[in-house]
Amino acid sequence: MVAIKGIEKFAPRDFPGLISATLFIGGCNFRCPYCHNADLVLKPHHLPDFPLDYLLSFLDERKGWLDGVCITGGEPLLDENIATLCSLLKERDLLVKIDTNGSRPRQLQELLEENLVDAVAMDVKTSLSKYRLLVPNSNHIESAIKESIELLLGTEKKVFFRTTVVPVLVEKEDIKEISQLIQGAPLYVLQQFQPHNTLDKSYEKIQPYSQSVLEEMAKMAAEYVGEVKIEEE
Ligand code: SF4
Repeated sequence: MVAIKGIEKFAPRDFPGLISATLFIGGCNFRCPYCHNADLVLKPHHLPDFPLDYLLSFLDERKGWLDGVCITGGEPLLDENIATLCSLLKERDLLVKIDTNGSRPRQLQELLEENLVDAVAMDVKTSLSKYRLLVPNSNHIESAIKESIELLLGTEKKVFFRTTVVPVLVEKEDIKEISQLIQGAPLYVLQQFQPHNTLDKSYEKIQPYSQSVLEEMAKMAAEYVGEVKIEEE
């Protein structure tokens, strides 16, 4: 069964507007240097799995109170049992949101077509040519990212795109390129970079962009998408 490494029993920010919990799935195929979940990414096998029975009895106890569940990671779509987990949640009349890095379009398509998810948040890390800075095996990553974006732009589900705006990895030109890629999206979130507890410790010395730079980026992105929000992480 799916490797659930963490459960946040009340996580209202992860599924906006709903009373929700968040499940953390171990493992990731990216190595974003600013990632705050290093253990989940680098050594998921050292972390214990939450038994499925525990999760199901928690959900059954919260029946009628919990609206939805956000599944995050790591990268949840790497787990071959993710569709089964989503089915178990849907059987309990819960809304399901997936957070993804967009590297597994086939798995994303399956969840969308089978109606196993209600909402998807996709991180678009930077412009396509810079993904090699984040992904150890970057063959085919550009086409996978484009495919995931196209799937999400074509679905009726609730979707939004998000970029953590890390200096060096994400510059104004990158925001412009991303905005063009996701043109027509209802919502694009620019998330401020927090230089602490990062996977690559050298990123803790990087100064985040000022609010005025984020606002300039947001203004540029707003020419291409429905709404742009700036958020603290
Ligand atoms: S930020 Fe997300 S995609 Fe990047 S390494 Fe961490 S979990 Fe993986």
